[in-house]
Amino acid sequence: MECVSSTEDKPRTGILNLDVLSCPICIEPFTIPIFQCDNGHLACSSCCPKLRNKCPSCAWPVGHSRCRALETVLESTSIPCQNAEFGCTEKLTYGEESTHENTCSFSPCSCPVQDCNYIGSYKDVYVHYKKLIHKNPQSTSQRYRVRCGESFCVKMNISDNLVIGTLYKERLLFTVQSFRKSNGVYVTVSCIAPSSPKAGKFSYCITYTVHGLSITYKSPELKKIQRVSFHTPTENYMLIRNSSLHGESLEMRICIKKEKEMKRTI
Ligand SMILES: [Zn+2]
Ligand SMILES: [Zn+2]
Ligand SMILES: [Zn+2]
Ligand SMILES: [Zn+2]
Repeated sequence: MECVSSTEDKPRTGILNLDVLSCPICIEPFTIPIFQCDNGHLACSSCCPKLRNKCPSCAWPVGHSRCRALETVLESTSIPCQNAEFGCTEKLTYGEESTHENTCSFSPCSCPVQDCNYIGSYKDVYVHYKKLIHKNPQSTSQRYRVRCGESFCVKMNISDNLVIGTLYKERLLFTVQSFRKSNGVYVTVSCIAPSSPKAGKFSYCITYTVHGLSITYKSPELKKIQRVSFHTPTENYMLIRNSSLHGESLEMRICIKKEKEMKRTI
């Protein structure tokens, strides 16, 4: 990691073993305040009360004097996000990386095309997918290039498992997957993105018609997936029972809607 000192315009950097920034008692990353006993043994603020303010190494009191030197070191550390290679420029404080990384919009996503190993941020996967189609126009038998809020017709063979489409205004890829099980076919729609608020919130609606009868499914929030999974979904799917199936092909109308940001309920 980089350790920053600001003596010049461009800070000098060095290597710091991050272990020194963890409490030696509970091994959790230190947060400010950091305490020390009179012999200089360190303890974090949650360990001190648990130890009844008695240093486990020397039995002197701990929890009254702070170790300002290490607090300064902690404040001056910055760690690149683990998704830096995918374009994230966030610099994080040690111990707080996971808060950011859980919702980092640069979390790696896999291209949904079978046998393609491309991995990148969801925006890069979109660009990559578009290029791939341009390079090989025959690669997808049918292109689904749709707008949010407009329904479109999807025709697929149940055994195909997967069709890929683009929400071209949002520059997002979505997938429609079908899973044949003993009681019928499960259909689910997802979008290729990490669970970052930047990727937006969507929901979808599927209408399946057979013999003049329509079944409609309205989803909760559209699932965001970083890679295509071939496990039968346990939630967020439409079940078309065997009695409603008509051969091997599925024909459905799907509409993906963009959800408004944080509706306030009164
Ligand atoms: Zn501790
Ligand atoms: Zn001590
Ligand atoms: Zn990040
Ligand atoms: Zn690809």
